[in-house]
Amino acid sequence: MADKNKYQNRRQFVKRAGRLIISLPVAYLSVSILRKTSAREFVWQIDPLKCTQCGQCETNCVNTPSAVKCVHSFEMCGYCDLCSGFLRQGVKIIDTAAENQLCPTAAITRKFVEEPFFEYTLDEKLCIACAKCVKGCTAFGNGSLHLQIKHELCNNCNQCSIAIACPSEAIQRVSVSNPYKPKAGFQTDS
Ligand code: SF4
Ligand code: SF4
Ligand code: SF4
Repeated sequence: MADKNKYQNRRQFVKRAGRLIISLPVAYLSVSILRKTSAREFVWQIDPLKCTQCGQCETNCVNTPSAVKCVHSFEMCGYCDLCSGFLRQGVKIIDTAAENQLCPTAAITRKFVEEPFFEYTLDEKLCIACAKCVKGCTAFGNGSLHLQIKHELCNNCNQCSIAIACPSEAIQRVSVSNPYKPKAGFQTDS
């Protein structure tokens, strides 16, 4: 009788273990399919109206340089001579000398259009996402310079490390069919 019980217990154990061995890969497969599906349907993006230009987009991306770039909404720009996104505060002479520019990498080009208007264009390859120009433009200008994650540069990480660091919760997942959150249509050189 004792032998029979032992035999039955062993059979039950083998049956349960078998079920566990079958169900574990199925559960793993479901989680990875879910992850891949959500990665395909959603991408990370910055809401420029929530961004407070803290500078962490430069340093917290897993990529160097960051997948975040400054973009420019020409529809909003004032084409100002005294551009607070281009010039350092308190400059004596308004010109394009490196010491007068706010951008540490000279990624912004200033071009005369007609009196008194100047056009400012961005070289995306030079931008490191420091947000200095965005801060200047937001504080004293029309706020036409702003940050966006460029998807051709972004790994679409399962969890965006900038989103974790962002003090303004300005980075969220958005639909891949509408992957940008521009303030208005923006210039891109990609
Ligand atoms: S981390 Fe957030 S608040 Fe800071 S610059 Fe990036 S988007 Fe803006
Ligand atoms: S100031 Fe910073 S964010 Fe603006 S264009 Fe230059 S590198 Fe990019
Ligand atoms: S998802 Fe990854 S690669 Fe893309 S911006 Fe965030 S940290 Fe950088």
